[in-house]
Amino acid sequence: MIQNTGELAKDASAEQNIKAEQTRLIYRSMPFSLLAILINSSILSLVLWQVIEHSTIIGWLVAVYLTTLYRFLTYRNFLSTKPAQDGIEFWRRLAILGAALSGALWGAASLLLFPLEHVAYQALLVFVIAGMSAGAVTTLSSIFAASATFLLLTLLPFVWRFLFLESDVGYAMSAMGILFTLIVVISSKRLNQSIQESLKVRYERQLAEETIIYQAHYDELTQLPNRRLFIDRLNQEITRAQRHQHFGAILFLDLDHFKNINDSLGHRVGDILLQEVAQRLRRRIRNEDTVARLGGDEFVILLTEIGDSREITSSWAQNFAAKIQLLFTEPFMVQEHELHLSASIGVTLFPINGAVPEDLLQQADVAMYRAKAEGRDQSRFFLPSMQEAVHQRLEIEKGLRRALVAGELELYYQLQVDITGACIGAEALLRWNHPERGLIAPNEFISVAEETGLIYKIGDWVLATACRDMAQIGFNRPITLSVNVSPKQFREANFVERVQNIINGCRINPSQLRFEITENVLIENLDQTVERMQQLKKCGISFSIDDFGTGHSSLAYLKQLPVEMLKIDRSFVRDISTEPNDAIIVETILDMARHMGLKVVAEGVETPEAFAFLKEKGCEYFQGYLFSRPVPLQDLLTKMESTAA
Ligand code: C2E
Ligand code: MG
Ligand code: MG
Repeated sequence: MIQNTGELAKDASAEQNIKAEQTRLIYRSMPFSLLAILINSSILSLVLWQVIEHSTIIGWLVAVYLTTLYRFLTYRNFLSTKPAQDGIEFWRRLAILGAALSGALWGAASLLLFPLEHVAYQALLVFVIAGMSAGAVTTLSSIFAASATFLLLTLLPFVWRFLFLESDVGYAMSAMGILFTLIVVISSKRLNQSIQESLKVRYERQLAEETIIYQAHYDELTQLPNRRLFIDRLNQEITRAQRHQHFGAILFLDLDHFKNINDSLGHRVGDILLQEVAQRLRRRIRNEDTVARLGGDEFVILLTEIGDSREITSSWAQNFAAKIQLLFTEPFMVQEHELHLSASIGVTLFPINGAVPEDLLQQADVAMYRAKAEGRDQSRFFLPSMQEAVHQRLEIEKGLRRALVAGELELYYQLQVDITGACIGAEALLRWNHPERGLIAPNEFISVAEETGLIYKIGDWVLATACRDMAQIGFNRPITLSVNVSPKQFREANFVERVQNIINGCRINPSQLRFEITENVLIENLDQTVERMQQLKKCGISFSIDDFGTGHSSLAYLKQLPVEMLKIDRSFVRDISTEPNDAIIVETILDMARHMGLKVVAEGVETPEAFAFLKEKGCEYFQGYLFSRPVPLQDLLTKMESTAA
């Protein structure tokens, strides 16, 4: 199996960690084994005093004591040094050396302290040596090299000594000695393996726990603190700021049009870009500050202890926000792409009486939202009035959800007429019949519906209702019903399918249906737009461009699109008879439309003068208060009777 370098590094560090633990284990058991050596060597010497030459005993005992002292000192140093993982090898070697010295001395005991004539004393020696060996298995096995050296150095001289007795008992003893050596060495090896395995399991568990803790507090992509850790730190900072009476600030930063980069260049590029942004931010802040990633392209910066007054803090924070924005003047190089990026920033200060971290984050978010709404690439301070606006939007969203279920939405219709004033169709205009506020015009809630995605359901409802009403208006009339389609609705993946399902469910002729789309729809993803419009056209539906003249659509677009009609925006029509500029724009649109074979409806015709002017310039269709305001279906039917062509 091929391992990548990351895995190899991980394995190496696991091995290091286990080695270090093994070394610690051997040192931990050292006091016990050293004590055992002191006691055993002393008793042995005392007992053998009568049968072995005194100088030999003293020499051996002194050597044992010195070795033990040396090992004890090593142990003490180890404890006080607390060596790091990479310095552990030295201590491991010292431990092995200590074990080897001790082993050699016990081996020497078999040769030097062997009471040749006294079998009972021999038995004592055998016992002591066997006991020491068994003890070494338990205390030294965490490092096999240590236990094996100790055992071999202790036991092989013993075997050797009995072999040289040249008696049957001697041979038997040395054979037993070999067997015993084998058994203890194998046991030690086994014990060593099981120690290693359990250390490995422990290490892996510890690693997993650390990873879990890390992942719970840090963002995986950028390695910045995540929301949780940020909230935690903010909480501490609020308390500190309250206690010491100073102020800090929160900067809420959102990248502008990041989604476009993600969509057009792919998530890989998007990810690298986020990492680069994180790095630039991290480098810019002070050590005591925190920059965190909340998710997506949202970052927050916590600036602590800025000043003793709100004024100082706020001007400092403002400057800082400007500096953060400067970080984006240099383009980002990601793979071979040079990416120009900007950020919108919302700022709020703390502490604020009673505000918890989540409140502050929300305030900064609201301010950031305002920075976006006012053109992006700038920063805004949080103001309480912003909160009010957010509150209202939330109310609208909540109300709209209810309105859909409770049947509070209604369709009004506004007549469209030709030069003779005869009805050629109507535009369906949405109204919200609010239980407390009465009729609410769509400009107040369509944008909220778009942002929250409620527009899909609302759009379906509008189309279904318009189709049903159309069935009442009647097929026999030569009229067209116009329905507004918002850009978001139009771009939804299954828009065509949804429309087909709705019109199939109604008994209407789709060629009497016209969709009003705005120029915005045309700007983004032209190919997809053309394809969708063609598909719908095949079903019989026609298209008009609403609010024409206010967007940025070029004529080049129009040529590619199956559009039948333009609607001149009412802002040009309103002052048409008094404003020369407006008159010129309208004339240009009419000329252009004539060349391209498009019909034109003038919206917002309120006065007979405007009507006359438009007629004179060649406009053929009209819509406006002069002919009719938007009215409920029943009123529309009545009006149609009176204006029938
Ligand atoms: P729009 O599609 O341009 O609709 C024309 C707007 O101009 C309507 O406002 C209409 O009442 C108003 N209007 C018509 N004649 C006159 C006039 O002579 N003078 C003045 N001052 N105003 C006139 P309304 O109904 O408030 O709708 C506003 C906008 O809301 C619509 O503009 C349309 O963009 C959107 N909208 C309305 N209904 C729907 C809908 O069902 N779906 C979607 N997505 N948007 C809708
Ligand atoms: Mg319209
Ligand atoms: Mg319009």
